[in-house]
Amino acid sequence: MDNVIIIRYCEIHLKGKNRGYFEKVFMNNLEKSLTGIQHEIRRPSGRYIVENFDSEKTDLILSRLQCVFGVHTLSVAAKVETNRADKKFPLNSMQLNAEIGGRLLAENPSLSVDVHAPEHTVYIDIRENGTALVFGNMMKGAGGMPVGTAGRGLLLISGGIDSPVAGHMIAKRGMNVDCIHFHSYPYTNLQAKEKVIELTRILGKYNAGVTLYVVSITRIQEEIHKNCPEEMMITLMRRFMMRIAERLARKIGAQCIITGESLGQVASQTIEGITSSNAVVEDLPVLRPLVGFDKTEIVERSKAMGAFETSILPYEDCCTVFLPKHPLIRPKLNEVLAQENKLNVEALIEEAFATMEIIVP
Ligand code: ATP
Ligand code: MG
Repeated sequence: MDNVIIIRYCEIHLKGKNRGYFEKVFMNNLEKSLTGIQHEIRRPSGRYIVENFDSEKTDLILSRLQCVFGVHTLSVAAKVETNRADKKFPLNSMQLNAEIGGRLLAENPSLSVDVHAPEHTVYIDIRENGTALVFGNMMKGAGGMPVGTAGRGLLLISGGIDSPVAGHMIAKRGMNVDCIHFHSYPYTNLQAKEKVIELTRILGKYNAGVTLYVVSITRIQEEIHKNCPEEMMITLMRRFMMRIAERLARKIGAQCIITGESLGQVASQTIEGITSSNAVVEDLPVLRPLVGFDKTEIVERSKAMGAFETSILPYEDCCTVFLPKHPLIRPKLNEVLAQENKLNVEALIEEAFATMEIIVP
């Protein structure tokens, strides 16, 4: 008697004309999540079965599968091989319930039956090929849609709590998410970069892998610091980040930019601040999945996705370098433009691009 894992998918999303395509992507993502663990995945009607794995790896396999979007529920089941003669199974479900229930009771006299409020339910799934799957548990999967079925986006990822959560939410809708991170080395240290690589790796578990693009924003910050009023540092820096992100997005075929902004959370996330950074994006939509969330809600999601402990490691982010004492809360676009005109924007962007590192964590 072997153990198998039954995967039920979020069926609504897999129906209709695109069903074949969705299922193929989903299967690929399941396989990818189990890379390095010996197993087989079969697809009998209506569900996926993982089998032929070392039973000591069951928990590891479950934890990987629980990160795959599109998985609705999971069960560990015992696979009972029955006699071929049982093929034309003579009992219907009701009769089988009575038969199995009776035998379980006979074997376990301390049990009693309460069909309305059972403490435990034993599920038996009799398959066409003469096997029965017996299980008593059902775990929740990650839900959502298979990653890769809703295009590609580029997430601006900082070392903070919010942006990994934003990436997780968008990946859950089936979008493939790549990441761009800006650092201010040598003002920020290498541990800060490692932290972002780790956050990207965590996001990658849900995302069938991720590519991280790391860009130095040091020169840009120095130029802003030298030429512009200090309270405009964050506003101007954000505009550079957005421009560089859009260019990279076009290059890698990403169809949108994603940020972890939440309205009013910090000084730069007022509607005026968002207007100022949004204004430089020429073509692509900017998705801000956290815009209406409270910090507490974001923290809950961060914990649930397993990013929180990493996000709160105390390394400096580029936003804290040259941090003005009083950042501009409601930047006026014409004043921002006047300050920005003092800088050679195009040359600075090109210079930043030349620092780009590509990391596949
Ligand atoms: P987070 O927790 O994601 O850092 P936050 O509340 O600290 O967000 P900000 O630091 O103002 O807010 O950043 C707002 C958004 O700008 C981030 O969610 C992220 O998408 C982007 N961002 C900020 N800093 C960086 C960075 N160094 N590299 C890439 N993107 C960044
Ligand atoms: Mg931050």
